[in-house]
Amino acid sequence: MKKKRNKIFIALILFILAIIVSKLKINIWVSKIIFIISYITVGTEIIKKALRNIKRGKVFDENFLMTVATIGAFLIGEFPEAVAVMLFYQIGELFQSYAVDKSRRSIAELMDIRPDYANIEKNNKLEKENPNKVKIGDIIVVKPGEKIPLDGIVIDGNSMIDTKSLTGESVPKSVGINDEVLSGCINGEGILKIKVTKEFGESTVTKILELVENASSNKAKSENFITKFSRYYTPIVVVVAVFLAIIPPIITNTEFTDWIYRALSFLVVSCPCALVISIPLSFFGGIGGASKQGILIKGSNYLEALSKSEIAVFDKTGTLTKGVFEVQKINAINISKDELLEYAAYAENYSNHPIAISIKSKFGKNIDELKILDTKEIAGHGICATVKGKEVLIGNQKLMEKNNIVFNKCNEVGTILYIAIDKKYSGFILISDEIKNDSEVAIRDLKKNGINKIVMLTGDKKEVANEVGKKLTIKDIYYELLPENKVEKVTNLLNQKSKGRTLFFVGDGVNDSPVLALSDIGIAMGALGSDSAIEAADIVIMNDEPSKIVDAIKISKKTMRIVKENIIFAILIKILVLILVAIGMSNMWWAVFADVGVSILAILNALRMLKSIRK
Ligand code: ADP
Ligand code: MG
Repeated sequence: MKKKRNKIFIALILFILAIIVSKLKINIWVSKIIFIISYITVGTEIIKKALRNIKRGKVFDENFLMTVATIGAFLIGEFPEAVAVMLFYQIGELFQSYAVDKSRRSIAELMDIRPDYANIEKNNKLEKENPNKVKIGDIIVVKPGEKIPLDGIVIDGNSMIDTKSLTGESVPKSVGINDEVLSGCINGEGILKIKVTKEFGESTVTKILELVENASSNKAKSENFITKFSRYYTPIVVVVAVFLAIIPPIITNTEFTDWIYRALSFLVVSCPCALVISIPLSFFGGIGGASKQGILIKGSNYLEALSKSEIAVFDKTGTLTKGVFEVQKINAINISKDELLEYAAYAENYSNHPIAISIKSKFGKNIDELKILDTKEIAGHGICATVKGKEVLIGNQKLMEKNNIVFNKCNEVGTILYIAIDKKYSGFILISDEIKNDSEVAIRDLKKNGINKIVMLTGDKKEVANEVGKKLTIKDIYYELLPENKVEKVTNLLNQKSKGRTLFFVGDGVNDSPVLALSDIGIAMGALGSDSAIEAADIVIMNDEPSKIVDAIKISKKTMRIVKENIIFAILIKILVLILVAIGMSNMWWAVFADVGVSILAILNALRMLKSIRK
């Protein structure tokens, strides 16, 4: 880019020199030669690009337009115009590459999570190692204020860690021995010794960076529209220009030169650059801004779709509720409570379901995995496992019925886990979950933002579903659903939405990947640390707050507004100048200023998206 800048600078000086020389009326050829040298300095690159693209079969691009317009201008003797067009066009291009470069860098910078090194202990000394070279099982040391370079488990020390760059939340989290830590977080005051559990390529930080960096390959409809638009638009303009050069002079019997000049100016204005560059840039800004707030969007297409959302579908557990169940009551029959809990915890050992996690944490003791023979998780039902030689069934009413277990139905409010050991009903564990603090606000704000239909789906039983629905003012509630019923429901809802509008589904990534994939936009919440959720979803909310969805919708609407502003502004100005040129009220100078000016204004408008985020 430096080289280009220098070229432009030299050409500009030569251009001014040529104008001075021509004003001094020394010898017209002196100024003409200086003009030509200036043109060659700044224009060779464009001419080469045009030729290269013609060879590739892409004839009508902006390089072609500029080349024809400027060489034509030389041929009809308009030397200053020829140089000026090329020069200003290149200045515009330079400005664009600055803007693109800046925004591209800023997404990575905005997130600021890429670690540069990992400290490894070698011969009692700490050495800085490339995180890429660190292996699973290696011990790394993270000093106060440093980024945690790889995912791992703390084996020594304790500290508060800052997850702000991943989640957008500034509340620090306290970690100590045996806690899991994720790469990309920043260590607080303490020194942490961490045993690495994932290679750098698999670590959270890499996953997130890859996701953000690949986002620009999923193009939005409006981006594709521009590509298509320029494919037809440019040849049409060229044809119109040719007619403009030939037909009017023949009909009106006037000078060809004047009309050729108009036709050439026409070509200059017609460049679609302003649109081609500013639209991806606006999306880039939107995606970058969202990622700063812990909302990762996998492509402009999803950002665009989100701005048109009409139906919101929520999973309950872990999405609207904390998904942190607490054991409220244990009711054991012919077995001690502790023993029942032990069987339950062993059976749930391999499950990541929020229910499983709560049972294991209540049990609190180490689990001897040798005593678990096999486990089967039956989605929407529960678990079937062989523990200490006995078959344990733990789950809801459906699971009991499916296995013909005779049990006493319990009517307490909360989620009830029935347990059968060797086909004999042995009691239940009552657990309950809490609604997230900001769920209510999120639902209210969604309604304010034009989401008319809000639906909650859950595998949990009716009583719990209704209670949560009432507290959150959600009227459309469907309960006791198996994962496949959720797919059915979402399919139905997809048929109900209005044309051109979208449906998004919000889940926590535990057993809802089919619905995430099926919806127009799949949003995974609380994805920090959950690989499957990051992979399955189109939009990933790193922390647990449903209100981030409202933020994402606001960002998407703002981005689309800027995109529309740019499209309308650029097209209107261009049409206006084209008309002025055609009727001879504008010249090539105005044409180039219109082209470059519109591009620059459009880019500045697009950069607003990035600016607003930086605050
Ligand atoms: P949700 O839609 O609320 O996220 P799920 O489909 O994950 O619910 O689960 C539905 C129901 O299936 C739970 O309420 C519970 O009764 C039962 N269940 C699912 N997984 C487990 C498990 N690991 N252990 C016990 N019960 C389970
Ligand atoms: Mg779930």
